[in-house]
Amino acid sequence: MKKEYDVVIVGAGIAGLYGALNLSPGLRVLLVCKEELILSNSALAQGGIAAVIDTENDSADAHFNDTLIAGGFKNNPNAVRILVDQGPNEVRALIEQYGAEFDHENGSLHFTLEGGHSKPRIVHYKDYTGRAVSETLIEAVKKRKNVELLEHAVVCGMAKGKGFSFDILSGDEHFLVSSHYCILATGGIGRVYEYTTNSKIATGDGIALAYQLGAKIKNLHLVQFHPTGFANHLTRETFLISESVRGEGAYLLNCRRERFMHKYDERLELAPRDVVSHAIMEEQKATGSKEFYLDITHKPANFVRERFPMIYSRVLEQGFDMTKEPIPIYPCQHYLMGGIDVDLNGKSSVDRLYAAGECSHTGVHGNNRLASNSLLEALVFSHRAADEINRLAQQEQISPVPAEFPEIQNALPLPAGIRTETRAIMQRAYFITPNQQEIVNGYERVCALKKQLETTPYRIDRDYVEAKSLVTVAYIILKELL
Ligand SMILES: Cc1cc2nc3c(=O)[nH]c(=O)nc-3n(C[C@H](O)[C@H](O)[C@H](O)COP(=O)(O)OP(=O)(O)OC[C@H]3O[C@@H](n4cnc5c(N)ncnc54)[C@H](O)[C@@H]3O)c2cc1C
Repeated sequence: MKKEYDVVIVGAGIAGLYGALNLSPGLRVLLVCKEELILSNSALAQGGIAAVIDTENDSADAHFNDTLIAGGFKNNPNAVRILVDQGPNEVRALIEQYGAEFDHENGSLHFTLEGGHSKPRIVHYKDYTGRAVSETLIEAVKKRKNVELLEHAVVCGMAKGKGFSFDILSGDEHFLVSSHYCILATGGIGRVYEYTTNSKIATGDGIALAYQLGAKIKNLHLVQFHPTGFANHLTRETFLISESVRGEGAYLLNCRRERFMHKYDERLELAPRDVVSHAIMEEQKATGSKEFYLDITHKPANFVRERFPMIYSRVLEQGFDMTKEPIPIYPCQHYLMGGIDVDLNGKSSVDRLYAAGECSHTGVHGNNRLASNSLLEALVFSHRAADEINRLAQQEQISPVPAEFPEIQNALPLPAGIRTETRAIMQRAYFITPNQQEIVNGYERVCALKKQLETTPYRIDRDYVEAKSLVTVAYIILKELL
């Protein structure tokens, strides 16, 4: 391994991988991830990527409008314009440059519909688009001679001088790496909640690292709760029942097995996620029951098995045949709209520090992300960040001076329970609807935990890093909500 790189990318989801592929082959790049390359939220994405490829029946303006409506017009319109205009080129590049496969019907790309979209415009591969695209990009990155891949390695700390220094933990060993530029692509924060669709890597590390460097963090309280997580509260990672199941006609039912969305929104089951999640909460109050279902049994069984092979088999493993009976569902944490605040080229408020994908805040999503706009955002803005770094790197040479990360003498093990406590606080304080009293109480406790983590000489390992990230994220969210 080298000690110095032009660019270090933290995160190997679609944002990190696509950023690496778009950096100039002349730049020396290190791509680091906590687990194996394929373990990310990107690889969990089911529904697909929203992009207007079919310009005869659809338009970028319609996608623009749908994105603003879903976001409650709180989006940054300039960022949305870029998203919808540049997005189709990125999807074409996935197909033409990298060989990504998407489903076809009668020889043309098949476009599916999801909540909040006025037209079917989502390209997908069965119901495991994220895994298929991630695998394609991983293969492409492996062929890049200028990109070094480092799996099972945790970025524990960052320092900024001329360029950046990184304290990286691989196995039991800490080592130091420096770079001229950095792209943080560390994904979401799902693990700050008791139940989430996110994978175990989603602990908000990049947001905490950027926060410690003094970067501006924006709108961290804009958390998306997906209405249809599989209701099995035995595991923290909740299996998602994709929006596209409703897109293909599934009904939401209450505990009496009655449809109820007509009471809350004229778009019925295809209203945006925040509307549906709120409707479920209202219906829970009305019926006094947390029992909810998603029903697609009125569609032909063959169609359901063929269109949703992964969901069908995962739900069957849990004892439900979705072609014959409704699936139990309940909302859970799913996505973060806020994050490290970046400009239209993915640059944060810290010089040479870029962020892309779910850890960033480009402003495209406003108050609520439109379905399948997230992978699109990761592609578009990681590409733009790479383009800007390519331009700047040609113009200037810097020599990053590595910082020291002092060894902690007599380091202590992290006490158990900090993450569990933080999750319980967040679940009480802010699940779909904020609870002001719990926010005030939770904030006080989280401040104490943050101080404890910052001032006690704990051993710097993955446990500590993730606990500190979760507490930092909880602290910022609750502070914004006070
Ligand atoms: C179940 C599910 C279904 C979804 N379906 C869709 C969909 O259909 N369409 C859509 O547009 N969006 C969907 N989303 C959202 C979308 O998948 C994510 O927002 C997006 O993939 C995030 O990509 P990313 O590259 O930013 O982060 P991720 O893909 O989460 O990657 C994060 C990377 O950062 C690394 N990392 C984190 N911290 C560190 C650290 N300290 N040191 C080293 N590495 C680190 C991780 O190891 C990982 O490689 C879905 C999300 C989930 C969870």
